Amino acid sequence: MTIGILGAMREEITPLLAKLSNIEEINYAGNTYYKAELSNHNLVIAYSKIGKVNSAITASVLCEHFKIQKLIFSGVAGGIDEDLNIGDLVYATKLLQHDLDLSAFGHPYGFVPESKVFFETDSKLCEIAIKVAKNNNIDLKPAIIASGDQFIASNEKKNWIKDTFKANAIEMEGASVANVCSHFDLPLFVLRAISDSANDSADMDFDKFLETSAKVSAEFVINMIKEI
Ligand code: SAH
Repeated sequence: MTIGILGAMREEITPLLAKLSNIEEINYAGNTYYKAELSNHNLVIAYSKIGKVNSAITASVLCEHFKIQKLIFSGVAGGIDEDLNIGDLVYATKLLQHDLDLSAFGHPYGFVPESKVFFETDSKLCEIAIKVAKNNNIDLKPAIIASGDQFIASNEKKNWIKDTFKANAIEMEGASVANVCSHFDLPLFVLRAISDSANDSADMDFDKFLETSAKVSAEFVINMIKEI
């Protein structure tokens, strides 16, 4: 099977590439894609660069050009729930775009034109993740993930997202990738390790914990590939 693995930042895919050998590098449509093999699967790995548009472009290229059959997103996120600590792992059950606002026309916040607010991930991939977590004694929590083109670093904005969407974690790519996957009918799994709490100190925490949290997520993904 050909599996795509996507991160937003270089730091999110570096720990994955470090575990692989015989990596082929391909430049296409303004981005670099890394091909490798693991556990009888062909992997195509890339980081999209931050944000919803960048991640939608890269996810589309993975689908259309590299013909991936499943997509796994690995990266970091800001935690909303009080019980989410730095380094904790969450997987998305569903995702939404918190900054998509057509409310002036009577649509609910996050409504994607001619579509819906929430996009689900693939239940089979989620089941595999739950099994991997259990086998490795890892506390993996299900989460509603809110994505937007904003780094959230204030309790006020965080609480609005929490109250409006019942979201548990915040990042900047997952929901746009989920929208792409729904168009291509491609099974998606989104994993995020907490890098900050989306509060006043989020920028400092992010810089401090990006690399360690990205590694936690990447290592889990490697274990997951072995179970697929
Ligand atoms: N330091 C970078 C910007 C990082 S943006 C620069 O200078 O360019 C944060 C990245 O991590 C995004 O890819 C997003 O998906 C995720 N993320 C982590 N914490 C977040 C938060 N509190 N709000 C939004 N995105 C967050």
